[in-house]
Amino acid sequence: MELQEKTLTCFDCGAAFVFSVEEQTAFQAKGYVNSPKRCPACRETRKARQLSSGNFKSIQPGFRSERKLFPATCAQCNQVTQVPFEPREGRPVYCRDCYNTLKTNR
Ligand SMILES: [Zn+2]
Ligand SMILES: [Zn+2]
Repeated sequence: MELQEKTLTCFDCGAAFVFSVEEQTAFQAKGYVNSPKRCPACRETRKARQLSSGNFKSIQPGFRSERKLFPATCAQCNQVTQVPFEPREGRPVYCRDCYNTLKTNR
């Protein structure tokens, strides 16, 4: 199935935002089947809130994650992110953006 850029309306703030092909691919890779209901800014806000509350799984009824995700802090930008493996001490963990940047810069 060919992906196309979509313009969606944020459920929280009502702003229109673009769901890019790149993001759609990333979403599918995570096993998500639904389009995001919120703009990136609101998603970040929610994610930060969920991670700090410690039980972000139960607050996401629309997203049943196939894989277990672990909260981690990106070694590059210090953003809170989620990784599909348990972060080990001494091993740097990167968010998706930094991981992609590092990969392409190599
Ligand atoms: Zn929004
Ligand atoms: Zn990062």
